[in-house]
Amino acid sequence: MVASFKILASSSSGNAGLLRTGETTVLLDAGLSARKLTGLLAEEEVDLGELDAIFLTHEHADHTVGIRGLSKRADLPVFANRDTAQAVQASLSRRPNWQIFETGRAFSFRNLRVHPFSVPHDAYDPVGFFIEWGGEDLFNPRGSLAWVTDLGHAPVLVREKISKASILVIEANHCPDMLERDTKRPWSLKQRIRGRHGHLSNGATLELLRSVENPNWKEIYLVHLSKDCNDVNLVRDSFTGFSGNGGTLATYVVDPTTAEAIPA
Ligand SMILES: [Zn+2]
Ligand SMILES: [Zn+2]
Repeated sequence: MVASFKILASSSSGNAGLLRTGETTVLLDAGLSARKLTGLLAEEEVDLGELDAIFLTHEHADHTVGIRGLSKRADLPVFANRDTAQAVQASLSRRPNWQIFETGRAFSFRNLRVHPFSVPHDAYDPVGFFIEWGGEDLFNPRGSLAWVTDLGHAPVLVREKISKASILVIEANHCPDMLERDTKRPWSLKQRIRGRHGHLSNGATLELLRSVENPNWKEIYLVHLSKDCNDVNLVRDSFTGFSGNGGTLATYVVDPTTAEAIPA
């Protein structure tokens, strides 16, 4: 089977991606209740029992809240670094089947090669994932994906990691003007979101993508849109005309309410 990738949910109220490659099915983050995730997986014809692992980027609830229920499947490996696992475990009574990785050190899981790398965000030890699979095989072609959902800015290491991915998932979190005008968030939270360890604005994401030299991208998914402080059409407008390396590139904006991937 050729790889398939689907974003099940992505917004400040829940993030999860489903990656199926060859014989391996994994979740990237689990930021919805287990009940909701199970329903979304069923829509993709994936039974919870078929899930091979979960990879967690950081402990924030919009990436981990499903672990409580999913850990009922005691054998299901949950990959995280030590600080993230500890922070998530603190709110659980059961102990998931933790598989601890080290940030910056690649590891293999079945047919996947997983590279967790550090990202600047206000969590204990947040990471992005660069994941590779396949090879010179007609029935198992080479592919790769970068999952980088929460970051305040993009250091050189992040640019390097994302440049290699054929599928790039990256946040376009907010419109600075909408965030400024927002009346629900206190000033301190706005400062956190805007900060160097907060979230990328639409403009910051566009600038980041433009600055990457010779990217390998075939598909880009713009995710983690704020429901109050961003707008799908605004993001689409911002990215109209962005062509990456000039080759064939499909750019999608993921609707924060429906998770539908809408062409930019
Ligand atoms: Zn976060
Ligand atoms: Zn988040």
